[in-house]
Amino acid sequence: MTDYLSTGSLPDEYRQLALTVRDFAQQVVAPVSAKHDAEHSFPYEVVAGMADMGLFGLPFPEEFGGMGGDYFALCLALEELGKVDQSVAITLEAGVSLGAMPIYRFGDDKQKNEWLPQLTSGRALAGFGLTEPDAGSDAGGTRTTAVADGESWVINGAKQFITNSGTDITRLVTVTAVTGQTGGKKEISTILVPTSTPGFVAEPAYNKVGWNASDTHPLSFTDVRVPQENLLGERGRGYANFLRILDEGRIAIAALAVGAAQGCVDESVRYAGERQAFGQAIGRNQAIAFKIARMEARAHVARTAYYDAAALMLAGKPFKKAASIAKMVASEAAMDNARDATQIFGGNGFMNEYPVSRHYRDSKILEIGEGTTEVQLMLIARELGL
Ligand SMILES: Cc1cc2nc3c(=O)[nH]c(=O)nc-3n(C[C@H](O)[C@H](O)[C@H](O)COP(=O)(O)OP(=O)(O)OC[C@H]3O[C@@H](n4cnc5c(N)ncnc54)[C@H](O)[C@@H]3O)c2cc1C
Repeated sequence: MTDYLSTGSLPDEYRQLALTVRDFAQQVVAPVSAKHDAEHSFPYEVVAGMADMGLFGLPFPEEFGGMGGDYFALCLALEELGKVDQSVAITLEAGVSLGAMPIYRFGDDKQKNEWLPQLTSGRALAGFGLTEPDAGSDAGGTRTTAVADGESWVINGAKQFITNSGTDITRLVTVTAVTGQTGGKKEISTILVPTSTPGFVAEPAYNKVGWNASDTHPLSFTDVRVPQENLLGERGRGYANFLRILDEGRIAIAALAVGAAQGCVDESVRYAGERQAFGQAIGRNQAIAFKIARMEARAHVARTAYYDAAALMLAGKPFKKAASIAKMVASEAAMDNARDATQIFGGNGFMNEYPVSRHYRDSKILEIGEGTTEVQLMLIARELGL
């Protein structure tokens, strides 16, 4: 079977990285995936392995402890991890693109020097707290407040569904908060909140449908006092800054989703060749073979969409529309392929020990997180001037 790494379309350094991560995913991640999924436990040993490989520092310069790679390299790593274990892949995705990237993009020298080496090493994690009970797709509904008081910000409010926010190695959560009013509109800013700050609480983890080994909590803030210098980027630019972070993040989520879609193809090809019914392998039936062919086409198209978005981003060109298209197409490919793979596996597909059943539960959130499919459609339509 040929795969995307054997077509010769990728420069060698990217190909080598993808092969190294593939090997890690198969040797280290796959053997413990079912256990962490069943126990809803955070895979600390896997995260430490990814840290040793430098994956948390992939797209950051060496001066901040990074690997000096780029965002596309991160995407390739996410695709390989996403094939095997979406919880592990989202832990890396959120750690890099939501945790460290806002500080790299918008932090001052002091913030970068204090936080980036910890985060790029993978020994510490940061969460990104945007979503609230009344502010999801409509992030302008933010109610959490940060009031300037002397040399401090005093933060009160709540966030929900925040990834990587309550692990033993979580050190920081970046939050969006209302810091005032400008022209009758909410002024939203972004503030760094070390998790050791009194008044900050990561509430008990959610009981989720999927991504069971990924860490997700509601957060509460009661008179949380941090220094004024913890403001990340300009006051009042929080909304614009997190939109930039989400645009990039959508390419990374698309890559993860392509991995999931491809993982379903790979599992299905293997199973369809082995499983016998009516005296032959089920893959000999055109109905099954065509289903798998369609799955492969979905994964391929979604991959070209995220490659395109990443190429635009790295070239410094507008990439908002391409990122939304990639995120939407790839998350739908993952969900569709997970459903088809589960069908191909028959009753086994409904058993939790089979990876395709995990993809079936895990893939749904890909159509919801970092902007729902409907939000992607709104963004694409807006880019078309509608
Ligand atoms: C496991 C998990 C991890 C997450 N991690 C993070 C994180 O780390 N940080 C973070 O900040 N957030 C995180 N989120 C939150 C996630 O980004 C939001 O759940 C998502 O953006 C949707 O927001 P919502 O849940 O409030 O849905 P809502 O905004 O309430 O939307 C409900 C439905 O209405 C639709 N809808 C809303 N407005 C429109 C419209 N104008 N037109 C058409 N349809 C519309 C939506 O598409 C959706 O189908 C996470 C969520 C989950 C489940």
